[in-house]
Amino acid sequence: MLRQLVDRLEKEQALPPAGLVSLLQTDDEDAVAYLAYRARMVAQSRFGRGVYVRGLVEISNVCRNNCYYCGIRRGNATAVRYRLGVEDIVACCREGHRAGFRTFVLQGGEDPAQDEEFVARVVTALHKEFPDSAITLSLGEKPQASYERFFRAGANRYLLRHETFGESHYRLLHPEEMSRKARLQCLYALKRIGYQVGTGIMVGSPGQTLQNVVDDLLFMSHFRPQMIGVGPFVPHRATPFADELPGSVSLTLRLLSVLRLMHPASLIPATTALSTLSDDGHVLGVLAGANVVMPNLSPINKRACYELYNRKAAWGAESAEGLAILQKQLETVGYHVDYSRGDYKE
Ligand code: SAM
Repeated sequence: MLRQLVDRLEKEQALPPAGLVSLLQTDDEDAVAYLAYRARMVAQSRFGRGVYVRGLVEISNVCRNNCYYCGIRRGNATAVRYRLGVEDIVACCREGHRAGFRTFVLQGGEDPAQDEEFVARVVTALHKEFPDSAITLSLGEKPQASYERFFRAGANRYLLRHETFGESHYRLLHPEEMSRKARLQCLYALKRIGYQVGTGIMVGSPGQTLQNVVDDLLFMSHFRPQMIGVGPFVPHRATPFADELPGSVSLTLRLLSVLRLMHPASLIPATTALSTLSDDGHVLGVLAGANVVMPNLSPINKRACYELYNRKAAWGAESAEGLAILQKQLETVGYHVDYSRGDYKE
């Protein structure tokens, strides 16, 4: 019965909500194994056994927002703040380019000092020096005109998780001054401009129900993101959610598999949060249908400051210096690092 649901999901890339709930909450290990198996077969038919790597540069941990879950929220007075300059960022990417990366992901808090002008200068410099590489931004909500300017300067992709589609759940995770509507408008604007767009959620964020997750799946089915970032929620000690439990690794893996079957061509990372909760995070994610890993390329002396949650992984196989470790881990299950820029293809 559950196997039939998996087969139907693979064939139709959709299921009625009750079917999605059954797959997400079953204890039937055989069904979960079959779900992961079909997801990885679909991923392999598109991407072979290669796993794309993206070099992640965390360009600032200053943020004007106060999301209740996030360690770099403006209300965290204990955070040691930093921001990188244009040259620092280019230098990180230069090192990454030498190591073989052909996609750079610039991620940061919504730092007012890194304004439109600043980001446009960074993108222009990277585009000029590394014309063979893709530039991905993950810098939060900006006016449409800024997104357009970054795109013209050479940015190709934008990651902006919607975090949750449910209005009341969104309100539980964010202060009054933020809005779900604004976030969704940004996502549609990015799509219209021509970016490859990534969205996604945290699994097990406080107050999240299975119905929320199903609504997120239905939203993504409608939005058709080219990239999908789904990782477990991990508490941070200096946030209002310090005492909450982390999200479930097993639900995260199932969700990766369901998403792979719903979005065969999408670029789906095995996230840092997954590796933070599980030493085998990368391998488990890939075996569940993920096909991207984003090793950390940030300056080593700043890495610990970009602490979104407790004990965030930024070393070993989670870092640019650890590419050989990542390759070894992937080899144990018959996969390998793919250094190509890995654009989205229908
Ligand atoms: N400011 C940009 C934005 O809002 O998209 C990018 C940086 S933001 C820190 C990147 C992502 O980190 C968020 O979309 C969120 O899903 C994730 N994140 C933040 N706090 C987290 C936590 N405690 N556990 C897991 N993921 C978290």
